[in-house]
Amino acid sequence: MPKVMLVTGGSRGIGAAVARLAARRGYAVGINYRTHSDAADAVVADIQQQGGVALAIQADVSQEDDVLRMFRTLDERLGKIDALVNNAGILETQMRLDEMQVDRLMRVLSTNVIGAFLCAREAVRRMSTRHGGQGGAIVNVSSAAARLGSPNEYVDYAASKGALDTMTIGLSKEVAPEGIRVNGVRPGTIYTDMHASGGEPGRVDRLKSVIPLRRGGSVEEVAGAVMWLFSDEAGYTSGSFIDVSGGS
Ligand code: NAD
Repeated sequence: MPKVMLVTGGSRGIGAAVARLAARRGYAVGINYRTHSDAADAVVADIQQQGGVALAIQADVSQEDDVLRMFRTLDERLGKIDALVNNAGILETQMRLDEMQVDRLMRVLSTNVIGAFLCAREAVRRMSTRHGGQGGAIVNVSSAAARLGSPNEYVDYAASKGALDTMTIGLSKEVAPEGIRVNGVRPGTIYTDMHASGGEPGRVDRLKSVIPLRRGGSVEEVAGAVMWLFSDEAGYTSGSFIDVSGGS
């Protein structure tokens, strides 16, 4: 039986790259998407064409009922989860904090923190030896912003990723005795559509001069770090973070 992985926000960007790499490494992959069913179906079709197993599952991770339904579908169609990638995340347009509305912060926290919390909770309920599970691993896709703070751009987003990192540390200690490892990956500036939806399509190129490695990163470079954290080589690694941020 292949191991089962769920990747939230898996229809494009970093999530799609993780899903593709996981399938190549033998995982049956649940690809969560919120709205873009065509994009999710295309990733599934790609994986299936290469002999892999994948399933697209719609859910808004910020909604508890959606998350419960998504995990039930995963249980029924692919089997009990072994690996969760909390990747779904949103970034709003660049803005100073003194111009932000509370609604914006609530939206960002809903997906970036509550979404990750709900999915981690459902995964732990299935993986934990305390609940009769066989163990497993969780990787939270955070951001270099959690360390750097994103002044004048996205302090709200940075705060949400800081909260995600703290949850990673706390949860890792809570569930380590139950056979579950929890780690984080902090991408820096990666070429994806997120920057376009954040209002600045050319952002990665603008920032090149301040990134020590003088370039943006690729989704494959992030996916490689995520998959290392699921590997046997990472068996003694929990509550840790890999910065994939070009030295930033
Ligand atoms: P992206 O916008 O291409 O992908 C994010 C995906 O999450 C999208 O498919 C989107 O539909 C999905 N999503 C958003 N809200 C959702 C919700 N409520 N429920 C379900 N799905 C939802 O962006 P990306 O760059 O691939 O980002 C992936 C992760 O990496 C995010 O958590 C992001 O914060 C993080 N990250 C990205 C960068 C970067 O430079 N691209 C840097 C640091 C961190």
